[in-house]
Amino acid sequence: MIALNDLARHHAPLRAELEAAMGRVHDRGWYILGPEVEAFEYEFARYLGVAECIAVGNGTDALELALRALAVSSGETVATVANAGMYATTAIRGVGAVPAYVEIDTATLQMDPGALAAVAEERPRAIVATHLYGRMADMEALGRIAREQRIPLIEDCAQAHGANRGARHAGTHGLLGCFSFYPTKNLGALGDAGAVVTDDRQLALKLRALRVYGWGAKYHCTMQGGMNSRMDELQAAVLRAKLPHLNRWNLRRREIAARYTKAIRHPYVVLPPSVDDGSDVAHLYVVRSRARESLREHLKSAGIATDIHYPVPDHRQPGAGIVPSKGLARTDRACAEVLSLPCYPELTDAEVDAVAAACNRWQPATRS
Ligand SMILES: *Cc1c(COP(=O)(O)O)cnc(C)c1O
Repeated sequence: MIALNDLARHHAPLRAELEAAMGRVHDRGWYILGPEVEAFEYEFARYLGVAECIAVGNGTDALELALRALAVSSGETVATVANAGMYATTAIRGVGAVPAYVEIDTATLQMDPGALAAVAEERPRAIVATHLYGRMADMEALGRIAREQRIPLIEDCAQAHGANRGARHAGTHGLLGCFSFYPTKNLGALGDAGAVVTDDRQLALKLRALRVYGWGAKYHCTMQGGMNSRMDELQAAVLRAKLPHLNRWNLRRREIAARYTKAIRHPYVVLPPSVDDGSDVAHLYVVRSRARESLREHLKSAGIATDIHYPVPDHRQPGAGIVPSKGLARTDRACAEVLSLPCYPELTDAEVDAVAAACNRWQPATRS
């Protein structure tokens, strides 16, 4: 069986490093928001080339805290895409705001700048742009619209650690960048963790208070809207041990994506746009097919795991309490066609070739 992801394989060569990092925490006996977190904040900010990093509990909280720092509140709208797995929508709903969904680009499946320009006319309070599948959204175009309309731009970088465009990393193009370190991300902890990054010192100060109940100083609440969303020391120590390997892992992911793109040839399988610069860190390798379920079944019977990111667009999630949106035909179609193939740094060339060969062998049931 070729798994979609294999974290045991990922961590095996790091076992000694990770245990040493966790050992430091045990020796110190300090478990939440301590020296490891502070050091990780410094190191991750330096890696990205940004002034401030605020470590929090997870990626969804990072998005919600970013909205809270901007004082986005009840009844206001926030522009975002509907094909990125409900994370931004959850954060937007968390502050009582309402998502205004922006249509995606057909080829890249990222937020379409033309569609954002139209939604921006309605004056949303903020924009959340997701770098989906590890590929950067068109930050020049999106940033221009945000600047012209004076709308704060938040980047969801949960799938794009280390991606860069024009020498600037994902997370440093907008006013705020939000990261998740969920274990399967390009940079993952051994549990939940997240971060917000920014060059704005005032926002950073707010975020530091908002992640601990709105405390300006211990037990002294100076700000409304506080949450409890902290990174723990064990996760920070693990992330510090893993960060120096991130660029190497991203390179290998990109190599795997390029290998798939070269090897897969099938009239019913649409490949993702090939990007061979740093703007793609290949978090996921996502193909499209009108006969997705048949392809998925075929790969499963060939011993290859796949997944769908994501099957249901946010505006069609029953129970999410969202008003159905119109004009999202491309989003709907993408959700019906996307299929993620195994893509993680420890995948061998032979495994990549086996997956590609299985795709090429697929005989879709033809409709009469
Ligand atoms: C994983 C992910 C998140 C949420 O991160 P959590 O740490 O699981 O809360 C947000 N946005 C995107 C695009 C993600 O992939």
